[in-house]
Amino acid sequence: MIPAEVIAEVRARNDLGAFIESAGVQLRRRGADYVGRCPWHDDSTPSLVVSPRKQYWCCHGACSAGGKRVGGDVIEFARRLWGVGFREAVARLDGGVVSAEAVPAAKEKATPAPALLERVAGFYAQALARSDAAVKYLASRGITRGELLTALQVGFVDGSLIETAPAGSPVRKELTAAGLITAAGAEFFFRCVVLPLRDLAGAVVGMYGRAIDGDRHLYLPGPRRGLVNAACAATTDGIIITESVIDSMSFLDAGIPNAIPIYGVNGWTADHDELLEKPRIRRVVLALDSDEAGQMASAAI
Ligand code: ZN
Repeated sequence: MIPAEVIAEVRARNDLGAFIESAGVQLRRRGADYVGRCPWHDDSTPSLVVSPRKQYWCCHGACSAGGKRVGGDVIEFARRLWGVGFREAVARLDGGVVSAEAVPAAKEKATPAPALLERVAGFYAQALARSDAAVKYLASRGITRGELLTALQVGFVDGSLIETAPAGSPVRKELTAAGLITAAGAEFFFRCVVLPLRDLAGAVVGMYGRAIDGDRHLYLPGPRRGLVNAACAATTDGIIITESVIDSMSFLDAGIPNAIPIYGVNGWTADHDELLEKPRIRRVVLALDSDEAGQMASAAI
């Protein structure tokens, strides 16, 4: 069971309107509500109605034609968008605060092939330079060094990948199986700054996305794997562990080369274990937020 407080926090932290727009649905104001085209039926009306006050959405068109109203909160929207169960939707919206044992996500999808993720990471990296909004977002977080972005292969998801993968094509199937394109036909990391996550051998085994609008952290479905900046372990005897990817990037941007993030306070992976088992690594400094969750995570490590 996911604790009710976690569900309430996920709802509070993920604004419904911002989330729906991040899925590629354009909303415009109509009285106290917003309206947009429903992503689940061929909608020219538009019949998706979103109440920012109630944080509730509803399709007044074909989806609800059977008499049963299709609508709900941000979790229900995410669940339908990603084609996943309730728990997985909560976990993804939560960006890792729900503990791994509460979420049996591992069985949902096979681990995508590193070669595919490597190609996609390269595609997204090219899109970063074209996006003023993404560059501006990174600058707002103090990350400005171009060589850092190149070294970490930082990218941006502007929605153009899907254009290279027509519905029904083999590559579309591959991207969908990897979780990069959702069952609803949207890019999973749409409007996110993304980084490939690598294992200690350098293979891309996961991907992280940070929405440039809103406060969402996304990871590919399946067990959380891979590290940012793992390569630094070859040249240092001390590691600084940060709570988020952006925190690590801030360290790196400031010229401190050995920062490696976990993914939220429960985001310790098998790759982190493997990293610390390296004989070379003698010192580990935890640079977690000084809030209660960060202190609990420090105690657990
Ligand atoms: Zn609909």
